[in-house]
Amino acid sequence: MSSTPMSTRLFIHDTHVAGRVVDVLIEDGRIADMSPGQPRPEAATVIDGSRYAVFPTFANLHTHAAMTLFRGYGGEVPLQQWLQQWIWPKEKLLDDERVYWGVRLACVEMIKSGTTAFADMYFELPAAARAVHDSGIRALLGDNVFGDADRFVDASSYSAPEWQDEMVRYCVAPHSVYAVSDEGLRRVARYCAENDLRCHIHMCETEKEVADCLAQHGCRPYEHLAQLGLLDLLSHRLIGAHSLYLSDSEMALMSRHGVTAVHNPNSNLKLGSGYRFQYAELQAAGVRVALGTDGCASSNNLDMLEASKTMSLLQKGWRQDSTSTPAGEVLHVASRNGFEAMGVDAGELEVGRQADMMLVDLDNVAMVPDNDTVANLIYAAHNDAIDTVICNGRVVMRHRQVAGESEVVAAVREIARQMHLYRS
Ligand SMILES: [Zn+2]
Repeated sequence: MSSTPMSTRLFIHDTHVAGRVVDVLIEDGRIADMSPGQPRPEAATVIDGSRYAVFPTFANLHTHAAMTLFRGYGGEVPLQQWLQQWIWPKEKLLDDERVYWGVRLACVEMIKSGTTAFADMYFELPAAARAVHDSGIRALLGDNVFGDADRFVDASSYSAPEWQDEMVRYCVAPHSVYAVSDEGLRRVARYCAENDLRCHIHMCETEKEVADCLAQHGCRPYEHLAQLGLLDLLSHRLIGAHSLYLSDSEMALMSRHGVTAVHNPNSNLKLGSGYRFQYAELQAAGVRVALGTDGCASSNNLDMLEASKTMSLLQKGWRQDSTSTPAGEVLHVASRNGFEAMGVDAGELEVGRQADMMLVDLDNVAMVPDNDTVANLIYAAHNDAIDTVICNGRVVMRHRQVAGESEVVAAVREIARQMHLYRS
């Protein structure tokens, strides 16, 4: 692993956690103590936390990490034209080495904006897993399948231990109800249920998708999954990216089966998908809502801090209600809810939890004055306020330095040149 080598014991003294000044002791990847005046432990890496506020890190629950390679490539053309003329021909040029560096770039960007876990949907998964391991963060890597999903017949190797370690987990990612056949969806669902794997799928992203499903199947997308028996099979394992255009009956189905809805506000806006994310209704129905950025090809960055602000502002504006989706709540959506959906015991600063956290610089101008630390983080700060990031008890960024960043940048520039991605 190329993250900063640290001992397994980390001690952050005199730091700010939810308005209190405490010492945070981390041992073997978990928060061991979080009280004031602790004696300095032996054999620990010590961080002076006095000018920082500690927050849980973000979990980006929907992205396509390697598509950092396509950042800004062919943007702002109609969706089908963009896919057919720009993205799909270039994706044919991707190999494991190129995917590796694309995922490495994504991990650097996510670490620098406070994210230590992500749910991905792409291909060349062994290379992606290697990149995640080398970056020192966590991922749920979804193998993107289309059509009849035939290759799941012999996908048992993905259940091997290296796919199910502490940092990288494998899941299956059927693209959508319109790109995967009914038989393919059934095959994936049976496989996920038998192997206790998550299933990550695009759902109800556009009004057209819903209208097409109604025309083809006589029901809406989540109802279609229910009729195929998939919601019974998958239940809480199902992660429905977007879930933007939902009926009341679909929200009731999602609640009954424990489905996670992943909101990707910047992608919905950038792709002109419209806006109808019914956060209040999903909350009332008891559906877990997580947050994502989608891939860099569609929303251009992987910044969960920016996505958090966008979500809150959109909800306030759309609902004409300044009390909608307050800062503390959007932080839970962007952090705790995402970790929960991934099955990772992080997202809250509590003794016993996994130590995924970030130190936010209270001297950063956006954090001054400290009238409301959470509101400052969500509404005022940019990611340059995030000084230090810790994942699984290990420091992966210190004073905004991420190990290997310059090597990653050089490698991606060279790949973009080789693939003729530059316009000129
Ligand atoms: Zn997507």
